[in-house]
Amino acid sequence: MNTHPGGEQRRPHEEQLLEAIRRIAVIDAHSHLLPEPQHVAQHRDALTVYGQYTRLPMFASGLSEEDWLRIHDPAIPLEERWALAKPYIFLVRHTSFARAARQVLKHFWNVEELADHNIHELSQRIAAENRPGIYERVLRKECNIVHVLNQNSPPPDDRRELDVYQDQQLLQPVVALIDPRPQNLDVNRMGGNDGFLSLDGYLDWARHRLRALAEKGAVGFKTFALDYGDPDRDRALADFSDLKRRQAGLAYDMPTPLLSYIHDELLKAAAAFELVVAVHTEFWGVHRHHPRYMMPILERHPNIRFDLFHSGIPYVREMGLIGVNFRNVTVNLCWAHSINAAMTCSALDEYLDTLGSDKVIAFGSDVRWMVEKVYGHLELARQNIASVLASRIDRGLMNFEEALRLAKEWLFDNPARLYKLPVVLD
Ligand SMILES: [Zn+2]
Repeated sequence: MNTHPGGEQRRPHEEQLLEAIRRIAVIDAHSHLLPEPQHVAQHRDALTVYGQYTRLPMFASGLSEEDWLRIHDPAIPLEERWALAKPYIFLVRHTSFARAARQVLKHFWNVEELADHNIHELSQRIAAENRPGIYERVLRKECNIVHVLNQNSPPPDDRRELDVYQDQQLLQPVVALIDPRPQNLDVNRMGGNDGFLSLDGYLDWARHRLRALAEKGAVGFKTFALDYGDPDRDRALADFSDLKRRQAGLAYDMPTPLLSYIHDELLKAAAAFELVVAVHTEFWGVHRHHPRYMMPILERHPNIRFDLFHSGIPYVREMGLIGVNFRNVTVNLCWAHSINAAMTCSALDEYLDTLGSDKVIAFGSDVRWMVEKVYGHLELARQNIASVLASRIDRGLMNFEEALRLAKEWLFDNPARLYKLPVVLD
């Protein structure tokens, strides 16, 4: 047994494999990173390490949204914010969300955990390091990441949507299939066209938007699983008229007849561009985004390559079943490792028994606000992969080279092929 930072222990094969996996170039197959100029313009401190998704178990343990906002409000003194955060960090410390955070503390600043004695100095270091070049340093040098498949929130101004995707060497844009900005969901204005018009007029505008984004370098479109039902043009037209009469907007997260029809029409457009359609499945809302809702869509659009996200957590088994039944599906474990490392490990082990090596994408960080967090999410993924594959080596089911080959396919080759990314490494 080897002992590691944080007291973790690994078997000899596992340790050796993990070291080899850390040398593999990686594609972060799903993130929401801000453009770097925005990242460096924003406040960062030690509490940001426990930002973003660590809030979820904290909320479940009683943290209020109001206190959460206070914890991350730099106008409030650090001591006060730390006092609010400290009990919740303690409560959630064994969750996968917090493990990812601790990997970041250890790797970048050699700190095991936030504490009274380090919170100030660490905050100063983190703020000082948040400067231009941080993406190159953290993503390329520290993480060995070659590309990030990045889904940015579009700016409020329609005309600037195309301009937010600047760094297409490192950040490769994945864009929303249906424009989620409020002005483009208002049926009296949608399409940036006041006083307009018809459902077909909206669809023309939306198809044109997708084409423009594809020409600008988008590598995929993003949507989410909902219980859409079969698309029905007549029902969609009635829905559209009704919304116009009520002066209401399209609820783009409700599976209404209008949304189902628009979604299906835009999938047809996406198919023509031969780009991947990435799909959020589950986690939020228990049954709301169940991966099984995608099955009729997978059948209806056999020429689209669908990348199903988050392994459908907690429906990882249904996801494996969908993966083996549909040739146009890839199972993507983005975010899954840091939601539930144990579930993702057992799912990956089961996928080895069910799916070909081309069917799994094993990592996407899903990080938004603090680029260093990508490292923590990646390290959890690497540890899970090493653990699962080392067990197979120990049982004589594969050798070391085969295990490493699989890790490389899952971490690099599969996302590179699916999203047609350049594979030349510098
Ligand atoms: Zn995401």
